[in-house]
Amino acid sequence: TTPSKGKPKWLRVKLPTGKKYTQLRSLVDKYDLHTICTSGSCPNMGECWGEGTATFMILGNVCTRSCGFCGVQTGRPSSVDWAEPEKVARSIKIMDIKHAVVTSVDRDDLKDMGSIIWAETVKAIRRMNPDTTLETLIPDFQGIEKHLDRIIEVAPEVVSHNMETVKRLTREVRIQAKYERSLNVLRYLHDTGVNRTKSGIMLGLGEYEDEVLKTMSDLREAHVDVVTIGQYLQPSKKHLPVKEFISPDQFKKYETIGLEMGFRHVESGPLVRSSYKAHKHIY
Ligand code: SF4
Ligand code: SF4
Repeated sequence: TTPSKGKPKWLRVKLPTGKKYTQLRSLVDKYDLHTICTSGSCPNMGECWGEGTATFMILGNVCTRSCGFCGVQTGRPSSVDWAEPEKVARSIKIMDIKHAVVTSVDRDDLKDMGSIIWAETVKAIRRMNPDTTLETLIPDFQGIEKHLDRIIEVAPEVVSHNMETVKRLTREVRIQAKYERSLNVLRYLHDTGVNRTKSGIMLGLGEYEDEVLKTMSDLREAHVDVVTIGQYLQPSKKHLPVKEFISPDQFKKYETIGLEMGFRHVESGPLVRSSYKAHKHIY
């Protein structure tokens, strides 16, 4: 759990409530559905679920990478579950999700890096939930185009890939990733005709304002349409420490500048997560 000591008041949230939330919560428990929202105890569950948005993680729950900010377990993942696409599609149906965000651990151990399961998952969701819109929050697939193409071919409404932090801190924050490679992935998505591209960064890891602005302008140069900016919170004592709590006013400033830069949407605020208000990002 996140240490709450010393947390500023704008990060203290009320427990989610509401009819839709309570209904979904009991379905998730009853059918043992796996959402990032519950496993990461996201503070926005009440709001997102109330609006019919949820995030699902595929390709298991063990990651081959070991990003310093991330609460997902690192190690050797189990073998691929070919029934997973159907299971996710069924979860979305049971939960009556209007806009689903799908993400995955990184599978650098697999020859296709998991891109086949990715494509099958999108297809299964479309088959079972023809009215549900989709965002795929994808790994970098080491920048390999044929893997990215599998996602592009199944045409999710939004394709996102997170930068997570500024250039200088990339090595420390996500050791196996590269800043330029992630930018290139986003540029490639745009150039191959993806409807909406999106990226996210976390603040409070020790970055300076000019570095945040540079990252935002790099994203615009890669034609990214939507950016999310939120406060980093430490998942456990073993993870990177929070260097700073960014004020709501500073987040607001980034939002204003982001819109001036030409992003179609900027979600910027202490509690913003990459999938927060995701349903708005398709328009
Ligand atoms: Fe789920 Fe993302 Fe919303 Fe959190 S912000 S509740 S993880 S959809
Ligand atoms: Fe977490 Fe993704 Fe990094 Fe894996 S690649 S450790 S899931 S942020």
